[in-house]
Amino acid sequence: MKPDATEAQVEEVLDVIRSLGFKPHPMPGATRTAIGVTGNQGAIDPAHFEMLAGVSEAIRVSKPYKLVGRDLKHDDTVVHVGDAEVGGLEPVIIAGPCAVESYEQTMSIAELVASTGVKLFRGGAFKPRTSPYSFQGLGEEGLKILRDVRERFGLRIVTEVLDTETADLVEEYADVMQIGARNMQNFSLLRRVGQARKPVMLKRGMSATLDELLLAAEYIMAEGNYNVILCERGVRTFADHTRNTLDLSIVPAVQHRSHLPIIVDPSHGTGKRHKVIPLGRAAIAAGADGIMVEVHDHPEHALSDGPQALLPDMFRQLVNEVKAIHEVIAEANATLL
Ligand code: PEP
Ligand code: MN
Repeated sequence: MKPDATEAQVEEVLDVIRSLGFKPHPMPGATRTAIGVTGNQGAIDPAHFEMLAGVSEAIRVSKPYKLVGRDLKHDDTVVHVGDAEVGGLEPVIIAGPCAVESYEQTMSIAELVASTGVKLFRGGAFKPRTSPYSFQGLGEEGLKILRDVRERFGLRIVTEVLDTETADLVEEYADVMQIGARNMQNFSLLRRVGQARKPVMLKRGMSATLDELLLAAEYIMAEGNYNVILCERGVRTFADHTRNTLDLSIVPAVQHRSHLPIIVDPSHGTGKRHKVIPLGRAAIAAGADGIMVEVHDHPEHALSDGPQALLPDMFRQLVNEVKAIHEVIAEANATLL
């Protein structure tokens, strides 16, 4: 649409798309609204739209993904979570334990996270574990603890939705619904969170290509949920000095093709706490919209992922460094302009 297009003109375009039997996807941007069309099998004659008032141009999208791509929407998408912005001017930090283990453990880590000014808290109540005998999470009891964290500290909650059966429950308690690496191509789950009214954080599958990641995001957006955050968390390679190989090159690659924000998880990406700060710094330097890290005050007793959890002092250090690195880059960019 043209930058000055009115709401009525946008509505008119939506009506025309519906009358043709297709699904319209209006996505407001910083300068103008883009309207995606899905449901068509072949090409649609652009003449249907070009004549309508307020329309700037009708673009045929040739990529396998439509709604995710910059062809359709050039402006970066900013996902609002409470008063935090993912994809905005400031880098975002999501921090917390791997799993919600108990009321006391969660509150104590939440207090630490809140004291640094970080606004988003993570913690799994439903855990995808490699072994069926490992701690599987506290389930709804864990979600209630997370709700108390939001009430007590004002932190917004990022938590994983493991399956469609528990999606209603997670949607009720979460501020951001996380899709884990193992579920990146669970297409019924992607469709389900696409129907949710909460933002979704989609983690890259451990052997997923960039196109596969973007098409997984497309599943969510095709259902009408445009608040999607991508997350790089490392992929499987031959390297055995690290839990996964954190692929920071996907950050500029995503930004080239997609308007969606992308953050980086150096905790699962490396598996060892001494690597989390260096790779967290690097993620911000590479232009990521933020990082997600695991933190624990007693990692030796953690029920999952203790070895990769940052200790409180390390976490405070990383928060300061993220700010400092981001400032240096923003300043350098400003002098280039
Ligand atoms: C997590 O972030 O809690 C998690 C399980 O990570 P991943 O899905 O990337 O393995
Ligand atoms: Mn974990």
